[in-house]
Amino acid sequence: MIPPYRPEPLSDFRNPAVTAAFEQALAAVKTQLGKRYPMIIAGRRVESGESIVSVNPSQPDQVVGYAARGGVAEAEAAVQAALAAFPAWADTPADVRARILFKAAAIMRRRRHELSAWMCHEVGKNWAEADADTAEAIDFLEYYGRQMLKLAAPQPLTPYPGEENHLYYRPLGVGVVHSPFNFPLAILTGMTAAAIVTGNTVVVKPSTEAPVIAAKLFEILEEAGLPAGVANLLYADPVEMGDYLTTHKEVRFINFTGSRQVGCHIYELAAKVQPGQVFLRRVIAEMGGKDAIIVDGTADLDEAAAGIVTSAFGFSGQKCSACSRAVVTADVYDQVLEKVVARTRALKVGPATEKDTDVGPVAAERFQKKILEYIEIGKAEGRLVLGGNALPGGYYVEPTIFADVAPTARIAQEEIFGPVLAFIKARDFDDALRIANNTPYGLTGSVYSRSRENLEQARRRFRVGNLYFNRKSTGAIVGVHPFGGFNMSGTDSKAGGPDYLLLFTQAQAVSEKL
Ligand code: GLU
Repeated sequence: MIPPYRPEPLSDFRNPAVTAAFEQALAAVKTQLGKRYPMIIAGRRVESGESIVSVNPSQPDQVVGYAARGGVAEAEAAVQAALAAFPAWADTPADVRARILFKAAAIMRRRRHELSAWMCHEVGKNWAEADADTAEAIDFLEYYGRQMLKLAAPQPLTPYPGEENHLYYRPLGVGVVHSPFNFPLAILTGMTAAAIVTGNTVVVKPSTEAPVIAAKLFEILEEAGLPAGVANLLYADPVEMGDYLTTHKEVRFINFTGSRQVGCHIYELAAKVQPGQVFLRRVIAEMGGKDAIIVDGTADLDEAAAGIVTSAFGFSGQKCSACSRAVVTADVYDQVLEKVVARTRALKVGPATEKDTDVGPVAAERFQKKILEYIEIGKAEGRLVLGGNALPGGYYVEPTIFADVAPTARIAQEEIFGPVLAFIKARDFDDALRIANNTPYGLTGSVYSRSRENLEQARRRFRVGNLYFNRKSTGAIVGVHPFGGFNMSGTDSKAGGPDYLLLFTQAQAVSEKL
């Protein structure tokens, strides 16, 4: 019997035993740093003469690992391996495929702190953020496994006299998974698990910022019994190899999470039918956000300030769900700003591996540079009230707040993907909704209000894929808050929702005359 899905509880770091176990995992990971990770193609370890070097952003002289960088030959070999593995995997019963996910989840549970500790080192997630990432990875495995069992069950068709009718959800073929650095285990696991549990085979190209944690996932899938070639691990440059894979005539679908710019590029390129290609390639894209939290005069202002700070500065704002705009009605604007500044000032910035760190570094030097450029732009567009600087020792950026930003300013329109928050003053609730809706994106949004009328108005008119009332805009839970956005935030493919697996299938109706 498979028990009903239940989200994985988060670790309670107030418990000294949990803290001690986590410290131990960090220490164990530290002894494993600097190893080399080959690609995995058709179940074989594949080396190359070149490396992707993964460093600890809290302390960039510490190498977390070296990944073998592949080129066209390896990308082609990975596609061929996936192609060869497809027929047998597609024919494997759904419950057998699902069971591999459940087994992988069990292994992850056993290795939970170790996996989180790798993420503290590799991308600079603090303890709580890393722990939530691992929990979400487990959730994706448990949830999609169960969803597959539902999809494989007889579908409710209208009975018809003299016929036996069925609807089957068939896999698509070979897919490519492009996963991001910011949820290097959770999103990687979710994107991969959904694609394979439905019977497809994949080439997985993880973010170049997070190759080591990807190797850990592959170790786990292998141990769980995933046959060789079903998932192939390709370490490669996203620009060079991305285009090669996107235009490959055997690549049936692309599952992408990343920036709007790259997502749009893939979408366009993928649409072109290549010589010999016999299908229309499918793109599932989860792109950026420019997410707003609205606060009106009826709100609990302390709750609102706490929600804004968590949403804006958790993992240094490197979430597409992060709040980068606080849109506050004029009657409480000064109060909310003051409360948010006070709470932000109390955040401890430091190495992600240390227990009390609230805000770690950003994940790469080039991200730090881009964020600092946006802060310079912000200085001309708004009033800098807090932060604004890099800090020494790692890729640190102070939590930064700009006040009195115009809704059309660049820092109010463009995704920064860093700890930079713009305060925007709205005349009234209507104006706040107008401002919040006025970007090309539509991923998450929150409203803090005690007015039923305002909340209902927002329910109808706030055009985002994930709308939250009186709570933070980050931290969607698998199965609870299906996640994905409108407009330039992507294809609104709701990860962790009941419709997600359908994106990796094609439905076949079979009718037999009796
Ligand atoms: N699902 C995450 C959240 O709700 C964000 C995912 C992302 O940043 O891509 O916070």
